[in-house]
Amino acid sequence: MKCIYCGCTDNRVVDSRPTDDGTIRRRRECEGCKRRFTTYEKVEMLPVLVVKKDNRREQFDAAKIRSGILRACEKRPVSLAEIEQLVNKIETDVYQQVDQEITTEAIGVMVMDGLRSLDEVAYVRFASVYRQFKDVESFMEELQQILAMRSPQQEGK
Ligand SMILES: [Zn+2]
Repeated sequence: MKCIYCGCTDNRVVDSRPTDDGTIRRRRECEGCKRRFTTYEKVEMLPVLVVKKDNRREQFDAAKIRSGILRACEKRPVSLAEIEQLVNKIETDVYQQVDQEITTEAIGVMVMDGLRSLDEVAYVRFASVYRQFKDVESFMEELQQILAMRSPQQEGK
């Protein structure tokens, strides 16, 4: 970042605050001429493509994740805030990965991991749709795993 007055590249941030549109406003002081100037920083969000089973691609859409999670959590003791938090976490994870593409499987695993810690029934609902359990056997195996993973304080509810 060059000073707009003297061209010096040495400067320090003296103040930093977020603005309403999500950009960060930074007040900088030039180490050369000591004059101050302001910069605005914005995180670049490159689009992420979701690769479907048949290899078709579509742009990642957090709304789809949200509706899937909402469906799984229907009539369960999970608050909207918790759902929103999970959606945000998945969205961040998707945008922070190295590639600009992600498979539907990978997203499904993220959702399942999140739901597992929120609500077991919601998790099983989502997993059963998502994994399309071939038979009762594989479904029961999954259930056994969930029961085995239950944390002690949830026992006896
Ligand atoms: Zn300067």
